[in-house]
Amino acid sequence: MTRPAAPPDAETRRAVAPVICYPNDTLPAPDLDLYRAARATAGKIAEVLVPPRDARCFDVPAGHFFRITSVDGPQVGDLNLWNRNDLSERFYSGKTRALHGTHITTGERMWSAFPHLRPMATIIEDTLGWYGIDQYGGSVHDVIGTRCDPYTGNLLAGGHYHHCCHSNLTRALADHLGVSLSEAEPHVHDVLNVFMCTGFTRDTGQYFMKASPVRPGDYLEFFAEIDLLGNLSACPGGDCSAEHSSDAAACFPLLVEVFAPAKGALDGWQGPAPNGYDRSHGR
Ligand SMILES: [Zn+2]
Repeated sequence: MTRPAAPPDAETRRAVAPVICYPNDTLPAPDLDLYRAARATAGKIAEVLVPPRDARCFDVPAGHFFRITSVDGPQVGDLNLWNRNDLSERFYSGKTRALHGTHITTGERMWSAFPHLRPMATIIEDTLGWYGIDQYGGSVHDVIGTRCDPYTGNLLAGGHYHHCCHSNLTRALADHLGVSLSEAEPHVHDVLNVFMCTGFTRDTGQYFMKASPVRPGDYLEFFAEIDLLGNLSACPGGDCSAEHSSDAAACFPLLVEVFAPAKGALDGWQGPAPNGYDRSHGR
């Protein structure tokens, strides 16, 4: 592709310093000390093992905790979240990215779509929190990818691969709700890429992945701010070191555990109210 000729002041224009779009000093901050104190009292009430190249749903009541753990081998997961009582309120990857950045970690949140725009879940522990941003601009737990899907696979390479995260999430949601695949599919949305190591190339700005630094025993743990329905796919890409959308990669299960705090451990905590905008849109 040929680029147009640069104007004489091109370097000056490029040298303008960036401005953070959404300074996060006015974001409502989670009370991590309270959450962690409540977590210390909590006991496990449920668990589900997500098989490789498949997905499973799980419920997490507001004020409970859920942990996603790598078991057996390095594996990334694609996570969808809904308000369990209203599936139209679902995770909004794009706004979460705008508020927190390309990857999220401890103290950051998964935000819900308009008109709700409130925290759905808060990360309270991340054993990969040490990773930071590597020399390629890569980091873990991204909100920049979408989810691997058979439509893009068909577009780029033809064929009909049925165990992409999009299809795994669709089957699991259909089974959980007792509805058809075509009813379930529109509820599936862009994910949090748990444990996945990704970024954008500096020279071409292209989305890249690399072998996840996750190892068995690593986990990401969340506090549920509202009643949640979760759905996690163990991506056919495995650790995403080579390829996805095929059966070529070594894949492993992911463990999801749900924990309930002791009675009274969250005294003083109030769940987030729906967004305060009046929705009159100027009319
Ligand atoms: Zn995937």
